[in-house]
Amino acid sequence: MKIIMLGAPGAGKGTQAKKIAEKYGVPHISTGDIFRANIKNGTELGNKAKTYMDQGLLVPDELTVALVIDRIQGEDCKNGFVLDGFPRTIPQAEALDEALKGLGEAMDYAIDVDVPDENIINRMSGRRACLDCGATYHIVTIPTKVEGICDACGSKVVLREDDKPETVQKRLEVYHAQTQPLIDYYKGQNILKTVDGTQPMEAVFGAIVGILGA
Ligand code: AMP
Repeated sequence: MKIIMLGAPGAGKGTQAKKIAEKYGVPHISTGDIFRANIKNGTELGNKAKTYMDQGLLVPDELTVALVIDRIQGEDCKNGFVLDGFPRTIPQAEALDEALKGLGEAMDYAIDVDVPDENIINRMSGRRACLDCGATYHIVTIPTKVEGICDACGSKVVLREDDKPETVQKRLEVYHAQTQPLIDYYKGQNILKTVDGTQPMEAVFGAIVGILGA
């Protein structure tokens, strides 16, 4: 089962991707998480990616595509994977299709978690992320058990630089210009499924399970 999660930043695709990975036993591959891990470890890739991420811009395809193409060929991806935050541009999608074709495979589903921009801005200001393990929370909808402390690892949770309102506005502009065209791209391949992302998290997941099968 090879799945792509589409949706604006803050639509909840990461949360849903993790739940899909758990239920269907496939790895969750988040390019955002990979970049953040690299930033934390001070790698060259991390340093390069950070300059784009902090401005709400996309990391260039040259730094992103090879990383994912390599990752999906890992032993743990034999039964599929769920891609979260990739592809984000048409050239990335084409490169992914090309690589899969070379392996005699193709994507099965592109799930668009649909949320209007107005809801996104509200959501993102409440989002908190653990800088240590990457877990994400929301002060209203998914609060930490202890305020300001990550449930998973006990480190501090903070408002990420790229979740600040001015950066979110930029990320939404980038989303509409560069990522939204993927909706038509996957519609054209007959693998696009849309779920209403304004529903509560469990209802969104229920809709996804309805698509993927129980
Ligand atoms: P995310 O956690 O998926 O929202 O990603 C955070 C940031 O990482 C994005 O705003 C981009 O700057 C960068 N990023 C993540 N995935 C990609 C991608 N597929 N292409 C380019 N930049 C990406």
